[in-house]
Amino acid sequence: MINASTGSAQALLKRYFGYDEFRPLQEDAIAAVMDGRDAVVLMPTGGGKSLCYQIPALALPGVTLVVSPLIALMKDQVDALKRNGVPADFLNSTQPREEQVRVQKAAFHGETKLLYVAPERIVQPGFQQFLNAIDISLIAVDEAHCISEWGHEFRPDYRNMRVLRRLSEDTPFIALTATATEQVRQDIEAQLELRDPARFVASFDRPNLRYSVLPSSDRYDALVGMLRNRPHGSAIIYRSSQKGTEALAADLVEDGIPAVAYHAGLPRETRAAHQEYFVRDEARVIVGTVAFGMGIDKPDVRLVVHYEMPSSIERYYQESGRAGRDGLESDCILFYGPGERERISYHIDRMEPGPTQQTAVAKLAEMNSYCHVPYCRRAVILRYFGEEPEQANCGACDVCMADTFDATVIAQKILSAVIRTGERFGASYVSQVLRGAKTKQTEERGHRSLSVYGIVDDFSDSGLRDVMSSLVSTGLLARSDGEYPTLTVTMKGRDFLRDRDRIELPVFQSMKSPRKSEGRSADTGDFDVTLFEELRGLRTQIARNLGVPPYMVFGDAPLREMARRYPQTEGSFLQISGVGRHKLDDFGPAFLEVIRNYVDRNGLGDRMRTFT
Ligand code: ADP
Ligand code: ZN
Repeated sequence: MINASTGSAQALLKRYFGYDEFRPLQEDAIAAVMDGRDAVVLMPTGGGKSLCYQIPALALPGVTLVVSPLIALMKDQVDALKRNGVPADFLNSTQPREEQVRVQKAAFHGETKLLYVAPERIVQPGFQQFLNAIDISLIAVDEAHCISEWGHEFRPDYRNMRVLRRLSEDTPFIALTATATEQVRQDIEAQLELRDPARFVASFDRPNLRYSVLPSSDRYDALVGMLRNRPHGSAIIYRSSQKGTEALAADLVEDGIPAVAYHAGLPRETRAAHQEYFVRDEARVIVGTVAFGMGIDKPDVRLVVHYEMPSSIERYYQESGRAGRDGLESDCILFYGPGERERISYHIDRMEPGPTQQTAVAKLAEMNSYCHVPYCRRAVILRYFGEEPEQANCGACDVCMADTFDATVIAQKILSAVIRTGERFGASYVSQVLRGAKTKQTEERGHRSLSVYGIVDDFSDSGLRDVMSSLVSTGLLARSDGEYPTLTVTMKGRDFLRDRDRIELPVFQSMKSPRKSEGRSADTGDFDVTLFEELRGLRTQIARNLGVPPYMVFGDAPLREMARRYPQTEGSFLQISGVGRHKLDDFGPAFLEVIRNYVDRNGLGDRMRTFT
């Protein structure tokens, strides 16, 4: 359906956000709002809710008021919008008086398109006069489940929203949340007094997330292995106790993995500092209690680990859902072992007898069954939210993937590559050689002419690393100690090659790609890792200079696309998804310079210029 308004909405999408297409429900929600209807948008985390009001805000004449519960998040959202050239501001109690006056003036003169406010402000008398004086086109209620007592984050001051309805009877409301239950949705509609709202309910499936339950017996080693096998990207580890978060963070640091702890018992400044290290990529790992997570929306978290079992599937869905907001594939791991259920029951037994206690018991039973089901774990989660999964086998949870596979050929290839490269390198480099990476190292070391160069195309980098780790545990390979461990082939490994033995290994999660969802760039893994690293380095440097989190410069997805397509002109740079006009002007020259240099240095020149 192409009409004038969707056409211009699409132009705004590219110009400000750098994206070519809307996701299906976004387009419909935007159309409804532009028509002046009230709307309710239910989408999972990472579903793209923000654009449902940000695009109308840009298209409509006046100001869009955005009610958002968290002051910390508000500032980040506004910063990110400004980076994209969108005139946005926020008003909250942390600002100096002069700043508040400036913001109000800008809104009054129509210079601001999006104005973020905290719910408590709405009922302040002076503020209502201000609202009366400005031209409001749309009211967006973010995290709308906060208005419902049935939700897990009830905020009484969200009830102030009624005042807004009174204030501007004709202004459309759009309410957005990632909380899926029917009860909460109905409550939102009633509390906000929405009038025949258009409802947009997305599937709560997160196709880019892989789910696994692992035994808790050697969870520390398993965790360290996972973090080492994925050298990039952030990880959140949830623990049930405050002491536990600190102990685990300290152990990880001792093992050379930058980690910080987060819990409500830490002094406020320490907590804020730790969160900041994590958001700015200075600490890769944050180990937190449930207190961690509200108030950050870091898009590039690649791994969420529950070191202990949470008390409900809702909790688990919400916490694990902090992985992969940017749509790139990410892992959700839960460690489970004997005693987990009893640990939680112990607390439930001490609750006041009554309906709340009964609910807690039921929720625990469902969570516990998630850890035991012999069928798809994703299905357990979806059914919990009243959704029937499309396929019985999701292909991206440990149960659906649980199987062994014939690893004979891949093991032979790996062992040969270790031998041919002189048994002097680690898993990362052996993987580069096998996958035929066009990196500086493979060139300089003359390894591109080896018979094993580029002979693997059916495993991703992390898949290969998992197989290598497994070959180490089965004793075909040995890994040296030290900071840069190298791989060698053992006697057993040599026998295996000579005798042409067969070997079966368990299927690893990393070997299967989650289903791609429409319009979302999945991690295809086929980007130039060396260039990606250089671009990441540049991103970090720019972010430090500007004092913003690195993802606000560019997310991982655009960087990967750059490292896949080698854009070398402004025109081609603008074609990268996630590059809008403003970012082209601000960051284009620096990124293009790195890409051009890289292409020249590696003699990639003409081959890549075919990309326009
Ligand atoms: P939510 O608020 O629902 O958790 P966001 O609005 O933060 O989700 O969007 C999640 C991610 O998806 C962001 O990185 C956003 O830039 C990206 N995104 C949203 N809409 C699109 C689109 N139409 N095309 C490409 N990326 C999109
Ligand atoms: Zn499954």
